[in-house]
Amino acid sequence: MKLAIATLLIGSAAAFAPAATPMRNSALSMSTETTTEKAFAKLPASIKPGVVTGPALVDLLDAAKEQGYAIPGVNIVGTNSINACMEAAASYGGPIMVTFSKGGGQFIAGKSVNNDADQASIAGTIAGAKHVHEVAALYGVPVVLHTDHCQKAWLPWIDGLLTASEEHFAATGSPLFSSHMLDLSEEPLEENIGICKDYLEKFAKVGILLEFELGVTGGEEDGVDNTDIDSSRLYTQPEEVFYAYEQLSQVENGAFTCAASFGNVHGVYAPGNVDLQPKILMNSQAYIKEKIGSDSDKPMKFVFHGGSGSDVSDIQEAIGYGVIKMNIDTDTQWAFWDGIRAYEAKYHDYLQGQIGNPEADDKPNKKYYDPRMSLRAGEEAMAARLVKAAEDLKCVNVLN
Ligand SMILES: [Zn+2]
Repeated sequence: MKLAIATLLIGSAAAFAPAATPMRNSALSMSTETTTEKAFAKLPASIKPGVVTGPALVDLLDAAKEQGYAIPGVNIVGTNSINACMEAAASYGGPIMVTFSKGGGQFIAGKSVNNDADQASIAGTIAGAKHVHEVAALYGVPVVLHTDHCQKAWLPWIDGLLTASEEHFAATGSPLFSSHMLDLSEEPLEENIGICKDYLEKFAKVGILLEFELGVTGGEEDGVDNTDIDSSRLYTQPEEVFYAYEQLSQVENGAFTCAASFGNVHGVYAPGNVDLQPKILMNSQAYIKEKIGSDSDKPMKFVFHGGSGSDVSDIQEAIGYGVIKMNIDTDTQWAFWDGIRAYEAKYHDYLQGQIGNPEADDKPNKKYYDPRMSLRAGEEAMAARLVKAAEDLKCVNVLN
């Protein structure tokens, strides 16, 4: 751990001191020490710009729960969407969760590569995570590196990522990934939580947080179709939440969050098709509080899947019951595309051939069809949509 602390201090000092300033006088080194103690005025000192893991991640999520906001958890598919997330976070002044799905990781490795044994999903997710580690601190915000739904058949993907985190931990004292979601909600409750507990034992040794799912998030996402699920499974019972809390609390140094379904669905549907019941979260908190005799009204940290298209009033009610993160995918997918669509519409006549546009038949169009132009338009639109999401989640100006 000594090595890890030393690395952290050097990293922070480098981030806050002018690069070439010699540390000769005591006043200067004192001011450096002060800034090293706390990077963000509204957050505990453990949280620094860049990837947040281990006890610092727990501190971050506890701060969100106590102060009453939720962090956007955003599905990404490459450096464009990853950077748009961090650009948005810097703009709204809050943390962000960069979330890799198994399919998103595969896309980063390349769709042409064989993925029979999840090798492309593993390699691509690790490559994306390393990109975030390299650039996150440049954005000056806390970044959580998370992975999305992993059902039972996909566990080899998480096994590959866990190995990468164990190697990273051995080298640096912290894991490569901040947290993983295991979604065993299709299995019976005891098996779901049993598998989660086994993984949490391994996660806890390297400081990875577990997100688990109870009930079922409806709708369709990343190739998993729950559109025809029995509707009673869309609503979790407080007894189930307490059972999971009690079991997972037995793991030494284990940290976890709960995706308990309360009528939420993946995707955006016409109004009236989604019946959210955030009170399920409130009832679960009250049940756990009574069972364990907790002082806290919100002993569990909840996460909200299928947030796209939800009413802001439902979202903010859920935050009041201990939701500390909301997943966003569908709305940011649309935003990224809409940015590209608008770019093409604006410059349509400059994008129909390499040479020749309304200005002259021999004018080159290179500066319009350079992929960075349309992709940047997608990034900007996605970042703008995320600023709106952060407003809904009350995650604006929560750092300083
Ligand atoms: Zn989900």
